Amino acid sequence: MRLMLAEDDMVLRDGLTRSLVQSGYVVDTASNGQEADHALSVQNYDLLILDLGLPKLDGLEVLRRLRFRDKATPVLILTARDSIEDRVSGLDFGADDYLTKPFDLSELEARVRALVRRGQGAHSNVMRHGPLTLNFAGRRAYMNDQPLDLSARELGVLEILMMKAGQVVGKDQLVDKLSNWEEGIGHNAIEVYVHRLRKKLEPAGIQIRTIRGLGYLLEKEQ
Ligand code: CA
Repeated sequence: MRLMLAEDDMVLRDGLTRSLVQSGYVVDTASNGQEADHALSVQNYDLLILDLGLPKLDGLEVLRRLRFRDKATPVLILTARDSIEDRVSGLDFGADDYLTKPFDLSELEARVRALVRRGQGAHSNVMRHGPLTLNFAGRRAYMNDQPLDLSARELGVLEILMMKAGQVVGKDQLVDKLSNWEEGIGHNAIEVYVHRLRKKLEPAGIQIRTIRGLGYLLEKEQ
């Protein structure tokens, strides 16, 4: 899942990025409103974390422009303490949730998980597919209750295929969600991750089908 973090406080931005990356998210960052607005106009994200007090272009304006173009991207706003007005206008402008600074990292992570999940149409922290279970909170996958040994990227691919079970997921879509500006991955890499995943899922009879020219399909369970 790919997130955009727009925050001008460098220390906070770097700290949040580190912890989100550690939790398995792919993160792009913007240090002012203009950068954020530009990124959001060319790239789809699974979540926007938006500080309201941004230089060059105010966070509320970034949000207003985003909502004008796209209603769907979940948005978590970060506001300074005591600014009830900001929170209210943020929600009025179409934010989904907010956090007041200073906040606890674990609380941010919990809200991020909830919003990303909701954005994907999943409603619980645990997703099941036959003998396969994916736990978003711990970012672990289990097969018949035994932990599966997956790399972060393999887990990323599996997560997307499970969320879209029954639909064909294009390689471009996988590349898009698993890359960020600094580290792009190519179609070849996706093929390698899928190949490794297949080997690990095969014993349980779970198949990832290749739909030639289109992408991959994890069959919906009957
Ligand atoms: Ca700020």
